[in-house]
Amino acid sequence: MTPGVRPLIAGNWKMHGTLREAAALAEGVRAGAAGLAADLLVCPPFVHVQVVAAAMLGQGVAVGAQDCHPAPKGAHTGDVSAPMLRDLGATHVILGHSERRADHAEADATVRAKAAAAAAAGLVPVVCVGETEAQRLAGEAEAVVTAQLAGSLPDGFAGIVAYEPVWAIGTGRTPTEADIAQIHATIRGVLAARFGAAGQAMRVLYGGSMKPGNAAAILALPNVDGGLVGGASLVAADFLAIARAVPAA
Ligand code: PEP
Repeated sequence: MTPGVRPLIAGNWKMHGTLREAAALAEGVRAGAAGLAADLLVCPPFVHVQVVAAAMLGQGVAVGAQDCHPAPKGAHTGDVSAPMLRDLGATHVILGHSERRADHAEADATVRAKAAAAAAAGLVPVVCVGETEAQRLAGEAEAVVTAQLAGSLPDGFAGIVAYEPVWAIGTGRTPTEADIAQIHATIRGVLAARFGAAGQAMRVLYGGSMKPGNAAAILALPNVDGGLVGGASLVAADFLAIARAVPAA
């Protein structure tokens, strides 16, 4: 945790669920959202954003998307813009997730343009960074993450950063607590050097196989201001158990 920063537990629902299942999952999260020591964010697939945002309206659970196009509109078949997402009730957008970097060859410059577009549309960008297993084994994790931050965050960035080691996503494996704390300290240093006081208070989430069983230990680490949760966010009880593992301020 960072003193004075309210943690955020964010769920990345990825490409899962029918509309009916998304509505049921949203209802499960909404029902347990009161009285937590963390803010909640859920990020359904594009096609479910409107229904989930309507269900969460006034319920204290923010809704985000998982990507947006860098342009506000135009001839970009199959894409969705940040203003469209804002119009549906989204307030956040995940950008630069490793699955998008891998599946869609998204480079840092693309992520940076998307983050700027999101901010211009009034969305809070949640920018993901993280090393591959080969990069970690080569001792390059800090350098990779530092370079990704430099390339992916636009000037004036006022969003959220998520550290997600690629090899920990969906694998059931996590870095050691010491390794998480070390990378988060590095990220904090980069953010503070570039954004000053805003960087000191910027939320830095951990993501990668966070579960109810390991959440308390991870969320208690310095400079870990919440979690970005994939698999466990698809079960409302597990997602809420992670949120309840946030230590009281
Ligand atoms: C993610 O994809 O952002 C993620 C953290 O997934 P998981 O929790 O399933 O590892």
